[in-house]
Amino acid sequence: MTGQPEGVVTGGGQAGLAAGYHLRRLGLDFVILDARAAAGGAWQHTWDSLHLFSPAAYSSLPGRPMPGQPGEVYPDAAHVVRYLSDYERRYELPVLRPVHVRGVHRDGEFLGVESDSGTWRARAVISATGTWWRPFIPAVPGRAEFGGTQLHTVEYRSPADFAGRRVVVVGGGNSGAQIAADLAYGSELTWVTQRPPRFLADDIDGRALFDAATARRRALENGQRDTAGVASLGDIVAVPPVREARDAGLLKASPMVVRLTRDGVEWADGTRAAADAVIWCTGFRPALSHLTPLGLRGARGRIRTIGTRAADEPRLHLLGYGDWTGPATATLIGVGRPARDAARAIAESLRS
Ligand code: FAD
Repeated sequence: MTGQPEGVVTGGGQAGLAAGYHLRRLGLDFVILDARAAAGGAWQHTWDSLHLFSPAAYSSLPGRPMPGQPGEVYPDAAHVVRYLSDYERRYELPVLRPVHVRGVHRDGEFLGVESDSGTWRARAVISATGTWWRPFIPAVPGRAEFGGTQLHTVEYRSPADFAGRRVVVVGGGNSGAQIAADLAYGSELTWVTQRPPRFLADDIDGRALFDAATARRRALENGQRDTAGVASLGDIVAVPPVREARDAGLLKASPMVVRLTRDGVEWADGTRAAADAVIWCTGFRPALSHLTPLGLRGARGRIRTIGTRAADEPRLHLLGYGDWTGPATATLIGVGRPARDAARAIAESLRS
């Protein structure tokens, strides 16, 4: 396959689809290239018990409200996959898959998008490849010596895989808390976190987080003091399973370990615990390797952006990786606005 559309979107998860919705509304000619065989982005690969931290009404992409899931206030990941599949069909978004983009390079007035299925030349590219595909594990001493199983959040599926086993869950964010809660009943759980876990108040869910992110964006737009948005509230949304395990006294965190040993973990004071498995819930990095040929990566591997536009390559927009590409852009409800802004900016630049 190959072609010369006006725009190419790399990645067909929620961010790529939101971009597609707005590009289509503006009448642009574009394709979305997605590496997965099926629709749904990262939601196809999460652990079995994962539920959204917001009700359906607060988890919608532009144009089409997410329908509720019968019997669930917070829809599960399978519901999100169905919603995204339906979304791309409904708006007839031109998603090609599986197409893995290997590199984006400058080609005169175009950007060349090279993939395992051919090369596209486009006047603009929106990169929306997410973070799930670049799991991060910190360099803790002894990782190579540990004789048990090690896995990252992206590989965890179900507590049944760890029944009766001694499991260390590393990480004080939402993934760490949810996976620890999952394992709290049937495994011998040790939960370790860099700092004491900060649970959000029980009545705070994704709705309040979105409101906090919106207030921050408005404050920044009006030149007011940074409200610190979501980060000011805490780290862990007390979704029902987390709340239940915490209230049952099963979610007690220990400080971070300093090393892994052959058969377990060790703390700074020399205390040790035996472990059969260590699950690293230690986050992700933006999946940006396809942009390497453009030479745009700066501090902490990030690309400098003005809004969604890459500061040093105006034909490139970034969508969905984190707050640095727009407030709440890495959420279902939050990606619509920056997607609209990116599509409008591209339409303007093509017509000028
Ligand atoms: P992805 O869903 O990762 O989609 C990116 C797509 O790009 C994928 O299909 C991938 O295959 C493709 N791709 C990657 N590299 C290439 C390449 N080189 N070439 C072609 N295609 C490529 N948000 C909420 O709003 N509510 C929640 O409750 C919520 N819970 C979350 C829970 C967890 C555990 C995590 C990790 C995130 C959660 N998020 C939540 C945040 C966010 O909504 C998800 O991470 C979401 O998947 C991000 O969508 P995306 O489109 O940016 O990336």
